Amino acid sequence: MFAPVDANLLEELKALLGRENVLVDPERLDDYSHDEFSLREIARVPEVAVLPGDTRQVSEILRLADSLGIPVTPRGGATGLSGGCVPTHGGIVLSLERMNRVVVDRKNQMAVAGAGATLMDFAKAAEEAGLYFPPHPGDESAMIGGLIATNAGGSRAVKYGVIRSYVRGLEVVLPGGSVIRPGGKYIKSSTGYSLMHLFIGSEGTLGVITEATIQLVAQPPVLRSMVIPFPDLESAVDCVPGLLAKKIVPVAVEFMGLDVISITEEYLHKRWPTHEGTAHLLVILDAATEEEQDRLSEAVAEVCLDKGAIDIFIADTPGKQDEILAIRSKIYEAIKAATVEILDISVPRAEIAAHVRKVREVAAKYDIWLPTFGHAADGNVHTHIMKARFAGGEVVPLPETEWRPKVDAVRGELYADAKERGGVISGEHGIGLVKKPFLSAALDPRQVEIMKGIKAVFDPRGILNPGKIFD
Ligand SMILES: Cc1cc2nc3c(=O)[nH]c(=O)nc-3n(C[C@H](O)[C@H](O)[C@H](O)COP(=O)(O)OP(=O)(O)OC[C@H]3O[C@@H](n4cnc5c(N)ncnc54)[C@H](O)[C@@H]3O)c2cc1C
Repeated sequence: MFAPVDANLLEELKALLGRENVLVDPERLDDYSHDEFSLREIARVPEVAVLPGDTRQVSEILRLADSLGIPVTPRGGATGLSGGCVPTHGGIVLSLERMNRVVVDRKNQMAVAGAGATLMDFAKAAEEAGLYFPPHPGDESAMIGGLIATNAGGSRAVKYGVIRSYVRGLEVVLPGGSVIRPGGKYIKSSTGYSLMHLFIGSEGTLGVITEATIQLVAQPPVLRSMVIPFPDLESAVDCVPGLLAKKIVPVAVEFMGLDVISITEEYLHKRWPTHEGTAHLLVILDAATEEEQDRLSEAVAEVCLDKGAIDIFIADTPGKQDEILAIRSKIYEAIKAATVEILDISVPRAEIAAHVRKVREVAAKYDIWLPTFGHAADGNVHTHIMKARFAGGEVVPLPETEWRPKVDAVRGELYADAKERGGVISGEHGIGLVKKPFLSAALDPRQVEIMKGIKAVFDPRGILNPGKIFD
């Protein structure tokens, strides 16, 4: 269906980008064959990876590829967890890594960033200008283009929203090479359909984002973190409706089991404040004054103790805060080697305790370790399907014959549970390649049909990130 990359095209690309920005060496190409999804069986080495330096070059690459019928897969930091930037059909991987300029506009409290700016550099540039970028998806090497293309979330979504809430304008190159700039440095627009919002979460299937205008906010006041142990996970997540009913909107409410906390402590050689109970809440608060922090912390403690919390630990110094946040943010890394897949089911937050209960039932039914943690207050649950057991405080690897046959059944039951509760199969990681088989069961067929129609309008030859979201 697609044409191969031939010697003529390679010469044209080298003339356009410079030889050093056209990668054909198999060893280097291997880096461009996968993202962070654990099973390397989905990886595919592209025929060539190109590193354009500006929008004109991206436009020319897409014009050439479209005219020749060669697939193009856009790629950011490759921190994705759904195989979204895997070049499933070979062809060209278009990496935005060199387009990483960030210019902060203090007057408008916005920044214009190249798609290849990393989250770390973007957040730092905002901070240096005395401003703040609230969303904080876990991996700081993710890039602005990838964050927007997946509509990334993170733990602060409960108070500050997801990436979509901050994007004000985009520069996008379409297959064929035309460049459009929907949105801009304004907040309101009722001027026709919002094409900008179509690109947010489109996973590189509609256009290549080359630049984004992003809203920043004033820097937050001082933060405080609370660690609250519970006898079980269900009672921990069951606190969330109580907090919100009391009009407490924390920056984050993360839940996690003691199993993953202990593994991560060992991995990082750091200490979590308590080992009581079996499940913990990490509540992060921000407030204008110390008095307001005290009032909020007391209210949080009251709700949690009422729901069966065993104790309350407050991290009120930067050192203690850092240690807690480091452990929370490295859980994924600590259990990564034994993980098959991280699910990112999103359910209405009133359903989260029932969904977590279902995870327990499924774990027991299939005799499989399913550590579950996530963003309690926004309903986004990260269940890890594991290829190991956790026994006697140790992670014990299992033979593939034991875990492999269970994976589809476990995933299927949890996705069905999410749907029954009015949720979706992906809250922040995207559908990409690995969740594609489940999209049609998760959405009604008419919605998928409309999505395919939109894809055909933007990309009539289907060259852009083919094989992702749907076929
Ligand atoms: C440790 C860890 C923690 C994580 N925590 C979170 C979290 O808290 N919240 C969360 O939402 N995610 C999280 N993720 C997942 C991941 O970081 C996000 O999905 C992130 O948005 C991906 O960005 P990226 O630049 O790495 O994109 P990539 O992985 O390179 O690509 C992702 C998708 O975007 C497309 N794409 C990339 N750049 C462009 C572009 N310029 N134009 C058009 N399409 C493009 C790709 O084709 C692909 O479909 C985590 C991942 C890890 C490894």
